[in-house]
Amino acid sequence: MIRKKIDLTGQQFGRLTVLTEAPQRENARVWICTCICGKKKEVLQTSLRGGTTKSCGCLLQERLNEKQLVNLTGKQFGKWTVLKEALERKQDRYWLCKCACGNEREVAQKGLMAGNSKSCGCNRIKDLRGGAYGKLTVLERAERRNGRVYWRCECQCGNRVDVRGESLKNGNTKSCGCLKRGPKKSLSNHHKDQKRTRKKDPNTPIATAIRGVYFHKPTNTWDAYATIGGQKIYLGRFPNLKEALIKRTDAEENPSIFLNKEKQH
Ligand SMILES: [Zn+2]
Ligand SMILES: [Zn+2]
Ligand SMILES: [Zn+2]
Repeated sequence: MIRKKIDLTGQQFGRLTVLTEAPQRENARVWICTCICGKKKEVLQTSLRGGTTKSCGCLLQERLNEKQLVNLTGKQFGKWTVLKEALERKQDRYWLCKCACGNEREVAQKGLMAGNSKSCGCNRIKDLRGGAYGKLTVLERAERRNGRVYWRCECQCGNRVDVRGESLKNGNTKSCGCLKRGPKKSLSNHHKDQKRTRKKDPNTPIATAIRGVYFHKPTNTWDAYATIGGQKIYLGRFPNLKEALIKRTDAEENPSIFLNKEKQH
């Protein structure tokens, strides 16, 4: 039986139109095709029929150009600087970016181009200093850990702890841990009564969540006391909690400077 020879003349495969058959190569049939771009190309019959060749090569080149057109390397998007292209994920292009704060992350091209991603998130860091969260008062920003923002806090019990900003804000952390351990002794009724009577006198500054800082309601000011060498020293009255707290912390951290100043007066 003689197999009928396939004739591809005039047929279209992608951008290619078959003109005529070329001499065989290693027993494989080859066709001369013309591409819509005008170039001619000899293509193996198997590549045409299998769909692996659809153009003279111009299609692939166009796709490459498209990719090269969108090269974000070195570009700036908010605080991001694009370092290099990262691996594709789910057909989305990703770029390795470095935030102005030093954090590196792979960011989707879409997010960068649309302006949805402008930093690692450090843009949104709120200054929590002076804030009170349960028994904790925020003193200062601590070092980042695993890219997370931490704050140095002082607990009412006097302990200092570094706490994640998120844990403070969502109320997960309210003390150095002493709250969980439970109060050493419950307040007797006598103590409670004392507290109540103390609160009734508007001229007596009220103890705040912060050790050494008292609130004076009539003048809306804050009194600060430092404990230096076991002595409680009055530091003055301040218009806000933050200043009172900073003054107290300074005095306690540099008692020598503070005491020298006192001597000079
Ligand atoms: Zn072409
Ligand atoms: Zn950042
Ligand atoms: Zn504590």
